[in-house]
Amino acid sequence: PLEPWCIGGPVIKGFGRGSKVLGIPTANLSPEGYSAILSEHPAGVYFGWAGLSGRGVYKMVMSIGWNPFFNNTEKTIEPWLLHDFNEDFYGEELHLVVVGYIRPEATFSSLEALIAKIHEDRKIAERALELPQYLKYKDDPYLKSSL
Ligand code: ADP
Ligand code: MG
Repeated sequence: PLEPWCIGGPVIKGFGRGSKVLGIPTANLSPEGYSAILSEHPAGVYFGWAGLSGRGVYKMVMSIGWNPFFNNTEKTIEPWLLHDFNEDFYGEELHLVVVGYIRPEATFSSLEALIAKIHEDRKIAERALELPQYLKYKDDPYLKSSL
């Protein structure tokens, strides 16, 4: 099993690929300063806990992927917080504790197939995070340190 790892910073603007339109907003974090930790983890889909400053701790499912606009040492970090927010929270401090890995990055033949897969990932994350081995990290001080 994977050792939990932590990553955090202010929520930055992504490339607006329409994830919100798809109903899948992702709160992007800058990979700056995390090249070592990111190079240790393959591109793919992960799950864990997200502490959003002044708000709370939420389940999250996250894509770590190559950023085609930069060189191959930079990956994008895009967690989807599994909670309904009434507004955007760009610039707010977000701390992640990543506890599990779901699957490698993949390509899809259609947008529908991609969306369906992400919802499958979400269900896997939601269920897994109820298991004691993952639930215990909800109390990780790193998440609270941003509240
Ligand atoms: P961007 O390309 O700028 O990341 P997105 O379409 O991915 O745009 O939307 C992400 C933004 O939506 C986040 O930065 C955050 O401010 C907001 N947001 C609202 N609800 C959520 C959520 N449940 N999970 C992640 N981000 C959310
Ligand atoms: Mg995003």
